[in-house]
Formats: sequence, structure tokens, C-alpha cells
Amino acid sequence: MLVGRANENGARLFREWFQELTAAADEKRGAAYVFVMGSLCELLRVFDFPIVFPEINSLQTAVRRVAHEYLNEAENYGFSPDICGYVKADVAVQLRGGTHPMGRIPKPALAVATNACNTYVKWGEIWERMYGVPVFTLDIPGSRGAGLASAPGTDDFERDRRYVEGQLRELIALCERVSGKRFDVDRLREHMGHANTLSTGWRQVLELNRSRPAVFNALSDGTIFLGVAKGFRGTPEGAAFFTDLVEEMRYKAEHRIGIPIDEKWRLIFVGVPCYPIFRRFSELFSDWGGVFVNSTYLWFASGGANLGFTYDLRRPIESLAEGVLLGVRDAMDSMFFQTQTLAQMIDDHAADGVVYHPIKSCRTVSTGLADTRRALMAIRDVPSLFVESDMMDRRVVSEAQMKNRIDAFFEGLASRRQHGAAPTV
Ligand code: SF4
Repeated sequence: MLVGRANENGARLFREWFQELTAAADEKRGAAYVFVMGSLCELLRVFDFPIVFPEINSLQTAVRRVAHEYLNEAENYGFSPDICGYVKADVAVQLRGGTHPMGRIPKPALAVATNACNTYVKWGEIWERMYGVPVFTLDIPGSRGAGLASAPGTDDFERDRRYVEGQLRELIALCERVSGKRFDVDRLREHMGHANTLSTGWRQVLELNRSRPAVFNALSDGTIFLGVAKGFRGTPEGAAFFTDLVEEMRYKAEHRIGIPIDEKWRLIFVGVPCYPIFRRFSELFSDWGGVFVNSTYLWFASGGANLGFTYDLRRPIESLAEGVLLGVRDAMDSMFFQTQTLAQMIDDHAADGVVYHPIKSCRTVSTGLADTRRALMAIRDVPSLFVESDMMDRRVVSEAQMKNRIDAFFEGLASRRQHGAAPTV
């Protein structure tokens, strides 16, 4: 059946991915540890590294409601309650020899970070100390200001692109050394071709959610799609998933099939989901008929796949540098210069409200949200909700308090629709 196929396939692919990781751990194969903003999967697959996303492993401990065990273990080991919960859950996974609720995580052979989050760099240093593995940090030049991203074809852009290309060539040499395999440019082309299909599909799927009713919930369904976009980037399975997903979402849009609730409010989500009560968090909105039609999460955590950039396979390394520069820069823009794009999202998706969800343990995406909210409200007359919790730590998640504020937000939305008022909670 077409409708619902993506969620089923996504769950299956996820299980298979962790089965493969478990097999790699059993065979003692060293993995490439990477991050969601700038994973470089297309390149790392050329060297047959199993790919590990520690951020995804960590959030899975929260979804499976055992994150607190991992966080406590890392805090007992000496990590501060204040730092990123993803780091601490990963430290505990490492201390447990890779034991994870979904399988076993292989040890790293190398790690690749970008400067998209400063925690990435410090996190990499932990693996360096634990295992003595090399950590390669790719330095991506960001936009110099809001709306000041240099455009492809300009001298500025070309200088930045060449800077990234030089680093990629160094990374290729490192991968050859660590894996003992020669770089094969045709295999790179193959993986980049699959990544092209995936990126094109990701962009189309986001656009299809402009239809009314929305064809997927960006908070719940979108997170499944995002997981596949990350874990299967550069693979035939990832490409096939997104080809099917576009077909399913297009069918739903054409036949006006929404998600299985009565859509009353179209919302934009800003931040990272509340994973310790993931399903319930989503229900607190859907119980009122609230549907998330888009989010900054599907933007920054996709690492720029939302742009739908396709690589030029005739000049793979040059084009890889261009795509990585555009993608990671765009992901950083989603945190530093999000206002105009959010305004555009509101217009494109005919959104009724914006929900800000700053979280205690990810300062990278939470810092400044109160200010960016003010900036957005100055240019769009749309109600917003500001509700704080965490993406990992259930000690700072108060469901009752959250529910009160969310209920008040929807009551305000209803009264606005009735009277034309503009509440902000
Ligand atoms: S601080 Fe935020 S962006 Fe950085 S690693 Fe942690 S969760 Fe990811």
C-alpha cells in the first residue's frame, strides 16, 4: 500500500542499519564516526567504513526511554550535567563497550567533524583520547552575515570552495591511510549519484507539505525521513526510499490525504524535538489538530539536503566541495540567520503559528532563540509559543507544565481566529 509505506520502510531500514553496525562491531571493524551537519557519507563509503552517527545513537536512547541511565553513567564518570546530552549518552555507550538499545556500536577508526557545532570538535577529542583515532575537522566558511552567503560563480564563493576542496583531498589521503584502500573516483561518483537522488527527493518532499492538508507531520514523520536521509545517504537504499517517498507524498497531495488527524492548525517547529517523551510531545499538539508542516530541524539536521543540491558527477571532488560548502553553510545559517527563511516558511506553508523549543543541553541551536523569535514576530503577524525542555534529559522535561502552555497557545489561536487577536504565549 502506498500510504504509510515510508514510515514502515523507514523503521525497517533503521533496524537493518543497526544490525549492520552490530555485525561490524562483532567483526571488530573500525567505523567512521560522523555528525549530522556535514557527514561526508558519500566519500567515506568509498572506503567501506561502517558509518556511525553518535547523535542519532544518543537520541535513540531517549526515544527508547533509557537515556537517563546513560546520562547518569557519564555524569558519574565526571561529565557535567550542563553539557550536550548527546555527548554524555555516547560516552556511556563507549564505556559500555558499544552496548546500545538497538544493537552494538563499533568502535571508531576515525572521526570526521565540521565546525557547524563547537561541541563536535570537543566530542571528537574524547574519542581521540579513548581510542587514539584521528579526528578530521572540516572547516566550512559560514555566511558573513544574514543574506550575505556568497553565490556560486562569484570569486568569494570560489575561494571558499577551493578551501573546502583542499581539505577534502587531505581527508581522502587520511581515509586511504586508515582503511588501507585506494581512493576510487568511480565509486565516489556512484555514491554521489545516490546522494543526488536523495537530496532532490528531500527537497520535493518538503515542498509537497505545502499542500492542505499537510501530507506528513514534520515533527514525527519528518524525524523518520530525516533518520533515513542521514543513515542511508549515498546508498541505493537511501535513493530508493526517497524516490518512493516522493511518490507517496505526491499521491497524498493529489488525493488530499493528510495525516490521520483533523488538521486545524498549521505550525512551524523551531529547535530539536523532545525525545524523552517523543510521541507524547507530538500528541500535545496533534490532540488540538496542530500539524507541523515544516521545521528548522528538517533544515539544519539534514545538513543542507533541503537545498536539493545535485553534484556534477563529471567533476566529483570539486563538486563535492561545492555541495558540502553550500549544505553545511546553509545548516549554520538555520541557526544564526533563520529569520527570513522562517518568514518564507510561514508564507509558503500558510502557517498559523510557530513553536520554539529551546533545549537545555544543546546551546548550539537554542542560544538566541528568544531574540530570533522577537525578530520574526516583528515581520510576521503570527502567534508563537516558547516552550523549554530538553532533547535527552527527562529531569528537565515537565509534561504537565508543557501541556498547560501548549493548551493556552491553542486557546489563544482559537480566540485569534474568532476575534482577529494575536496572542503570544
Ligand atoms: S550541542 Fe547540539 S548540535 Fe552540537 S552536538 Fe550537541 S545536540 Fe548536536
